[in-house]
Amino acid sequence: MQLPAFHNEPFTDFSRKDQHAAFLAALQHVEKEVLGRHWPCWIGGEQVRGRDAFESHDPGELARLVGYYQECTVEDAEVAVEKAHAAFTDWSQTDVEDRVRLFFDAARRLRERKHEFSALMCFEVGKSWAEADADTAEAIDFLEYYAGQMLKVAEPQPVTAVPGEHNEMRYIPLGAAAIIPPWNFPLAIMAGMTSAALLAGNTVVLKPASQSPATAALFVDLLYECGLPKQVLNFVTGPGQTIGAAMVKHAKTRFISFTGSRDVGLWIHEQSAKVQPGQLWMKRLVAEMGGKDAIVVDERCDLDAAAAAVAASAFGYQGQKCSACSRAIVHRAVYRDFLDRLLPHVEAIRMGHPADPQMNFGPMIDGAAKRKTMEYIEAGRREGRLLIGGETGPSTGYYVQPTVFADVAPDATIAQEEIFGPVLALHEVPDFATGIEVANNTQYGLTGAVFTDDPAHKELARRRFHVGNFYVNRKCTGAMVGGHPFGGFNMSGTDSKAGGPDYMLQFVQAKTISEKIG
Ligand code: NAD
Repeated sequence: MQLPAFHNEPFTDFSRKDQHAAFLAALQHVEKEVLGRHWPCWIGGEQVRGRDAFESHDPGELARLVGYYQECTVEDAEVAVEKAHAAFTDWSQTDVEDRVRLFFDAARRLRERKHEFSALMCFEVGKSWAEADADTAEAIDFLEYYAGQMLKVAEPQPVTAVPGEHNEMRYIPLGAAAIIPPWNFPLAIMAGMTSAALLAGNTVVLKPASQSPATAALFVDLLYECGLPKQVLNFVTGPGQTIGAAMVKHAKTRFISFTGSRDVGLWIHEQSAKVQPGQLWMKRLVAEMGGKDAIVVDERCDLDAAAAAVAASAFGYQGQKCSACSRAIVHRAVYRDFLDRLLPHVEAIRMGHPADPQMNFGPMIDGAAKRKTMEYIEAGRREGRLLIGGETGPSTGYYVQPTVFADVAPDATIAQEEIFGPVLALHEVPDFATGIEVANNTQYGLTGAVFTDDPAHKELARRRFHVGNFYVNRKCTGAMVGGHPFGGFNMSGTDSKAGGPDYMLQFVQAKTISEKIG
């Protein structure tokens, strides 16, 4: 089977009149046709309705209802795992090329409906047009990239010849998966985790984050429309602490693919190691967790580019990215100059409902996130010097201003803990090497960048900056599938690389077959 060479899906150019109009039309369509739906769950190929309903609202306009969902019970989750386990035998035997074709078709359909999905994310999770469009483009990339990688994984693997034997090693799928994504890339990460598991021949129970079930439900419908057997993709909605936990603990769950916070990831790590009665395997866990990402700014560099990159990395999607820059570590010689160049970028941010194309900074995801961010801002007032922001925004949504604190000590709370909101701490350091030490001085190791013109400093940072995704002279967000395989070290997760050539190997196991000949 020959697939076209992989290319990243281009971002939409909204300065084009036709694209601008198409997106406005998609927003209207979604508001009229998609919002307010009562979404079912899917267990063992059957639609499940009639559970207690929970609802979600637009975080940028709380009066706007996004949808109603089934509040599944622990028993529902357990039945879903049983059903996924039962469907595994057939699905695992399907032809790899058929699975690849199905996910290529899904990518095509998603491309055709990209504005619909992006528009839904403007309402469901407060993404600006550009952020939502990038999320959808990344989802398309994951589908096509993992499909291509799966063909490679399915190829005969090299083994050394042994006289008198015919030997081969092939990869086979694992079993039923618990797929537990976060809300912050409600399409891309959810679709990537789900499609990788299915492409490899595993069956799935998908539980989206409770803040973003509508995007996941729309995507599940799209996969069913492509002909994915419903039994192989079970879909349950409800609280992570109950049904997510039940999926993790179930004896028939073969592996868990989780993306989310450090604390939940560590809890899942512990639980997944406990062998349940009747369990036949050690569960595998792929966990992609939080970050406390930094950009180090050297004395000799393009300071304007550094300031623009720090602002974009810190405040894109309101700082709600695992890769967001929450610390700028700046050489003493250019510290004041850097602040002067940074502030205009922050002042230029337009906060408001992200469906409005004039706005590039929307709300926090929910009340808890807003409260937590305001608590960190209070801590920041004690730990640093407030330069800008620090207040909440319109009470129609969960708005918090982009906020910058200067003169923060490297061991301050706001310099150590993941805030996951629009709060940036600035640190002054005496030299570049100290800057790298400060950057490494957290429990995380996800992304990081340096701005420097000095070749020796670039090399120092390449070697010593201990992050899974390290960038030179560019922002620390915006990883591209295929080009920037993504995932971090230490408490940022199990070192898996989403969108990279070895990602699919986490969802298969190798079988060696030796036949005596002659
Ligand atoms: P979260 O940990 O609160 O939730 C993630 C998922 O886990 C959700 O689906 C949730 O319902 C579920 N969950 C919660 N408790 C559970 C339990 N006890 N058992 C099983 N499932 C449970 O994280 P979030 O708020 O959705 O996402 C934000 C976090 O995700 C941040 O820390 C961010 O850095 C991280 N993140 C990491 C990456 C990465 O690639 N490393 C990417 C995106 C987000």
